[in-house]
Amino acid sequence: MTTTPLRWATLRPLASALAAATFACGGADAAARDGTAVAAISEFDAVAAHGYVEKQVAFGPRVPGTPAHKAMGDWLIAEMRRRADTVIVQEWTHTSSDGKRLPMRNVLARFRPTDPKRVLYLAHWDTRPRSDKETDPVLAARPVPGANDGGSGVAILFGVADALKKVPPTVGVDLLFVDGEDYGSFDTGTDVLIGAKYFAEHLPEPGYQPMLGVLWDMVGDADPVFEQEAYSVQAAPEVVQRVWTTAQRLGHGSVFSNREGLAITDDHVPLNAAGLRVIDVIDLDYPWHHMTGDTPDKVVTSTLGIVGAVAITVIRDF
Ligand SMILES: [Zn+2]
Repeated sequence: MTTTPLRWATLRPLASALAAATFACGGADAAARDGTAVAAISEFDAVAAHGYVEKQVAFGPRVPGTPAHKAMGDWLIAEMRRRADTVIVQEWTHTSSDGKRLPMRNVLARFRPTDPKRVLYLAHWDTRPRSDKETDPVLAARPVPGANDGGSGVAILFGVADALKKVPPTVGVDLLFVDGEDYGSFDTGTDVLIGAKYFAEHLPEPGYQPMLGVLWDMVGDADPVFEQEAYSVQAAPEVVQRVWTTAQRLGHGSVFSNREGLAITDDHVPLNAAGLRVIDVIDLDYPWHHMTGDTPDKVVTSTLGIVGAVAITVIRDF
């Protein structure tokens, strides 16, 4: 994902605000920083979630067209079939701007698939083929391991699926794993958000309209601060309110900040354009974003626990 050029101007003042907020959250969330404590007070298993990050990274970078991408996709489908009531696989070939034919799969794991009242959660499961933010050209040519960028969001969806298998939801839940988010160029808008665009054009049924949708992206770093992403506030303010209020009620008000953040081009944008109401929970303030250092040691169990607790509580509250 990327921020819009207009918004870059606000990045500098925000950076100092972020640092202050990060410092401040040491007190309020001190108890929650211990992974086992989080696991004990929430049905979301944060330790298992970190294991899902490690498992994904162990496949290797999940770059479309590679064996690791195929293996991860197969695993994802098999694991979701064990947990959900129905799994829909959308499979197609995307021809990239440089003429490569890329095999793509979106995976939609559904609980209570016929319930018209639904919650949609999504994350991208592919990883970026280049570490563009590296200054060393040798490193820049390597793929991103994708522990936080890709891996963390998928881990949240897996943890939610585990909880829903144990205690089924009272509303319909759709867990959507989109492919091809991070393949191409955000500067030109080519070959990015591929799976989300495809889903927006191929909704699972006519009139598909979840009550709310949340994209979970880069949700695992050591000093999480989720500002209210600007496109989300614009497109679905009531969803932002619901998620942030839930987080505050659970004691995570310093992590889910009330500040309006940057406008970030991410998988929620094509879905909102198709008339769904989807927000992006994202913390772009991550030193290893699009770098070779985006590895599982940078993803923190307690952060996954905070995000996962919010995610499952939003569903349970209906
Ligand atoms: Zn990325």
